[in-house]
Amino acid sequence: MLRAIKSIKQIIPSNQDLDNMMEIFKDMMNHCIRIGIKENCSTLKRMSMLSYHELRNYDIMSSYKICAISQACGILSKYKKEFKKNPNAKMPYVTKPYITNCYNIKHNNSLLTIPFKYHNPINILLNNHTQKILSNPALRVRSFTITALNISICISKEVEMIECTKIVGIDRNLRNVTCGNDESVTFYKTNKLLSIKQNTIYARSGFKRNDNRKKKQFYKNMQNRMQNRTKQFIHKISKKIVDNAVETKSMIAFENLKGIRKLYRKGNGQGKNYRRKLNGWQFYELQRQVEYKALWEGIPVVFVDPKRTSKLCPICGCRVQEDKKNQRKLMCINCKKSMDRDVLAAMNISYKAWSRFTHARDDTGEAKCSIFEEPMTESKLVIRIVDVSKCISSRSR
Ligand SMILES: [Zn+2]
Repeated sequence: MLRAIKSIKQIIPSNQDLDNMMEIFKDMMNHCIRIGIKENCSTLKRMSMLSYHELRNYDIMSSYKICAISQACGILSKYKKEFKKNPNAKMPYVTKPYITNCYNIKHNNSLLTIPFKYHNPINILLNNHTQKILSNPALRVRSFTITALNISICISKEVEMIECTKIVGIDRNLRNVTCGNDESVTFYKTNKLLSIKQNTIYARSGFKRNDNRKKKQFYKNMQNRMQNRTKQFIHKISKKIVDNAVETKSMIAFENLKGIRKLYRKGNGQGKNYRRKLNGWQFYELQRQVEYKALWEGIPVVFVDPKRTSKLCPICGCRVQEDKKNQRKLMCINCKKSMDRDVLAAMNISYKAWSRFTHARDDTGEAKCSIFEEPMTESKLVIRIVDVSKCISSRSR
């Protein structure tokens, strides 16, 4: 059994008590920051010793005081670092606070009750979507984070992992995402992400007013809009991938692309536009979304080494060559077959994950099934996959 965690976000209707609470919290944080600067400390222990008693005049539950102290510590340590670089750094002052708390949260049908003052909690009206999700008795409300406009409720559930019989490899590219194994392959086009980015750059360049404050605001708005649009687009893809994996009971395998930005640094002999395009490639967002959605459904996610995933033939394990007629295709001379670059990579990833995570080898060198107890229905398939995995692993040694 594993614990999966997720959060739901909603807009809160205006509430006088809540505004009051945010105001008190803001004052407490700024008080803590003043104390920290005066005493020159930013460690949590010393800050709590110094400021906890100073906060006794604020009429609020004590858990919020601890939250304010710990948040102030973070701000102070950041300020300390900045101060070392620049002695004229601006003194920190909190204007838009956010509150996180995990104590005394109660939930019944349409209301979420959070603590505020002693014997005086605040009720927050939940919308239909949140009510529908929280009505599931298997879920537990763990904590909440509140800002002036939104509340995000963290929920958890005990998940039993599904016993998988297949593996889906996912190959992420700039213009598409390919998921598949040797049985079926699905393409998701991500050209739209590039066009969203291009449009944002174009819209930004149209700002001609000579006003720094307005310019900053405009750039920030454009940035937020771009992020929201790309996130939403990727959410659609990740949902489809996970739904598909649940339906076919398959494990999900990714390439571990950590450190890929090193390839596109300044001075690597690449053009400015090329580097901008590839450094704006959001490979991690899809992985993040798929990881938490898959855990929620009980699907395991594994990572493989990306080395040579698009250079070896998935059927015989030989090195493939570029097809001169079509740039997106690769030729295997041994099998006399031409294959799409992305399909080949997705298949290789699924095979790699298969050989790495399901075939633990003992000393005799024989492949052993650890997760898959029942043999696959097509015996031909199993032999071929085992052979390929042997081929790949012997080559990578
Ligand atoms: Zn081949």
